[in-house]
Amino acid sequence: MISSGEVKEEKQNEIDKRKKEIEEKLSDVKRRIETIIQGKQARLVAVSKLKPISDIRLAYELGQRHFGENYLQELAEKSEKLPSDIQWHFIGTLQSNKCKMLAGIPNLWAVETIDSIKKADLMNKACASRDDKLKVFLQVNTSGEESKSGIEPGECLEVLNYIQDNCNKLELMGLMTIGAPNRDDSNESQPNPDFMLLKNLKEEFKNVRGIELELSMGMSDDFEEALKLGATNVRIGSTIFGSRPSKQELKQDKCPS
Ligand SMILES: *Cc1c(COP(=O)(O)O)cnc(C)c1O
Repeated sequence: MISSGEVKEEKQNEIDKRKKEIEEKLSDVKRRIETIIQGKQARLVAVSKLKPISDIRLAYELGQRHFGENYLQELAEKSEKLPSDIQWHFIGTLQSNKCKMLAGIPNLWAVETIDSIKKADLMNKACASRDDKLKVFLQVNTSGEESKSGIEPGECLEVLNYIQDNCNKLELMGLMTIGAPNRDDSNESQPNPDFMLLKNLKEEFKNVRGIELELSMGMSDDFEEALKLGATNVRIGSTIFGSRPSKQELKQDKCPS
C-alpha cells in the first residue's frame, strides 16, 4: 500500500525537480542575454504556450513576470488562474473577431501581432473600456514567406503613422518579426537579414517621426544574434520550458478520429 503521505511527497519531489530545471534554464538564458547587452535594457518574454500553469507558476516564483502566449483561449484561462501582476504578451495570430475578448484580459501587457490598419482600428475600439493604453507592436513579414503573418515591409511606415496618429487607446511600442530559420542568404558572417530589415524600419520611422521604437525579435535559436542587432524584447520558449508538442501531434490530440 502506498500512503497518501508518500504520494504527496513524490509529487512535491517532482515539483522541486521541475523548479530546479526551470531555474537553471532561466538563469542560463538571462546570463546569455546579459553577456550580449552588457547592462543595457532588454525584456525577456518567457513563451509559455502549450505549457502547464504549474510551469508558469514556478517561473513566476523565480521572479519572471513577462510571459507570452499564442492562443487566446489558453491565455484567457491562464490569466484567470495565475497572479494578476503577470504581464502577458499576446504573440499569436490576431483574428479580427477576437480583439474584444483579448482586450478584456485585464493584465494583458502588449499585443505583438498587429498586422494591418484594420486590426489596429479594431483593437483600438476594443480597448475603449480599458483604463490604460494597450501596448502594441506591429508585426512585419521580413522574410517574404507566404506562410508568415505580418505586414509587408513597404506598408510598414503607413501603419505605424496611422497607429501613432489615430489610435488613442493604443501605445505604439515597436516592431516585431519572426526570423526565418536557416535563410539561404544568411550565414555566420552576415547579419540576419530579417533582423536587419526590422532595424532599418525602426531607423526610418525615427528619422520621419523622431520616435524611438522597440524591436521584438529573437527566439530560442536566434536571440543572441537578435540582441546584437538591437532587440529590446526577446521571446524565448523551448530553451526555458523544453520542447512543445508539434502541430501534427496537437491536431491528433484535438480531433481523435
Ligand atoms: C512560439 C513562439 C516563440 C518562442 O519560440 P521558441 O523557439 O520556443 O523560443 C516566440 N515568438 C513567437 C511569435 C512564437 O510563436
